[in-house]
Amino acid sequence: MDEGPENASQAQRVAQPAEVVVVGSINVDLLLTVRRHPRPGETLIGGGGMRSPGGKGANQAVAAALRGASTAMVGAVGDDGGAEVALSRLEDAFVDLGDVVTVPGPTGLAVVTLDDDGENTIVVVPGANAWMTPDVVERASDTVRAARVCVLQGEIPRDSIVAVAATAAAAGVRVVLNAAPALDLPRATLAVADPLVVNEHEAALVLGWAGGGEATAGESGASLADRLHALGAPSVVVTLGAAGAVGVSAGGAWAVDGLRVPVVDTTGAGDAFVGALAASLARGDGLQDAAREATRVAAHSVQRHGAQDSYPGPEVELP
Ligand code: ATP
Repeated sequence: MDEGPENASQAQRVAQPAEVVVVGSINVDLLLTVRRHPRPGETLIGGGGMRSPGGKGANQAVAAALRGASTAMVGAVGDDGGAEVALSRLEDAFVDLGDVVTVPGPTGLAVVTLDDDGENTIVVVPGANAWMTPDVVERASDTVRAARVCVLQGEIPRDSIVAVAATAAAAGVRVVLNAAPALDLPRATLAVADPLVVNEHEAALVLGWAGGGEATAGESGASLADRLHALGAPSVVVTLGAAGAVGVSAGGAWAVDGLRVPVVDTTGAGDAFVGALAASLARGDGLQDAAREATRVAAHSVQRHGAQDSYPGPEVELP
C-alpha cells in the first residue's frame, strides 16, 4: 500500500452517524450457465455472463438500507472496472460509502457456474477484500463506535472480525455476527455476538471449533442454538432454510416458522435475513420480532432471481 487506500466515494458520506454499520466483503458475481461442467482442458459454450453486485457484506448492507435503516459500509474495492458494478446497488440504496477504500488490484470476484441439473461450482477471488486487515478496518472505528448495530460476516480476514467485534462491543454497539462462511471464533468474540447468526451447517462447525463438542447426526437447530448459547454467545439465531429460524436469547428459546412461497432462487437469502434482522434490531425490536421480520424479507427474496436485486424496498408488501 504505497499511498494508502483512498475513499471510494466521499460524496456518499452522510452527516448523521449510520444506525447500522456493515464491515465486510464487496464482490462482483459472475453467473455462467452450462449444460454440463467442463472437464479439465475442455472448452464449452455457456450462457449468462452478466456481472451483478454481491459479497455477503454488501448484500447485507443493501438489505438493511432497503428496510429503512441508515446504513454505512466498511469495505474495499479494487481499482478495476468491477468496483462500479460492485458498488452500484449500495449507491442506489443510499448506503454511506465513506469508509469504502479503493486498493490496487481486482475487486472481489465470485464466478458461479450452474449446470442443467442445478449443480454449481463457485470460485471466489477475495481480491480487494483481502486488504481488510485490522489496521485498515481500524480507520473506520469512529463509524463503528457511532452505530447502534455492527454487522460482521466471514469473508474478510478473521483478525479484523475479532478486532471490530471488540471495538463495537466496548462502545456499547450491538454486534450481529454472521459466521458465514463458518469461522473459528475465539470465546471472547463469541461472548459479544448478540446474536450469532448461522445456518445449521455453520452452527455445527462453529460449535466444534469453539470447543463445544461435535454436533450429533441429525441434531436439531434448536439444540445447536442452545449449545452455542451455553458456550457464551449472549443470543443465537440458527436459520433453517424453508423452515424459518430458531433462536435463544435472554428470555429463552423461540422459533419463527418459515413462509411457504414459490421459490425461484435462494441466492443471498441468508444475507437478506441478516440485513433485515440488523435493521429491525436498530429500530429497537426484540430479537424474535426481528427474526420474524427477517424471515418475511428473506421469503420475498427467494421468489426472485439474484441476491441484491431480489431484496425488497420499504414500499413492498411483505409475505
Ligand atoms: P443462502 O446461503 O442460500 O443465502 P443460508 O444457508 O445462509 O442461505 P438459509 O437458512 O438457507 O440460510 O436461509 C435463510 C432464511 O431465508 C431462512 O431463515 C428463511 O427465512 C429464508 N428462506 C430460505 N429458503 C427459503 C425457502 N425455500 N422458502 C422460504 N423462505 C426461505
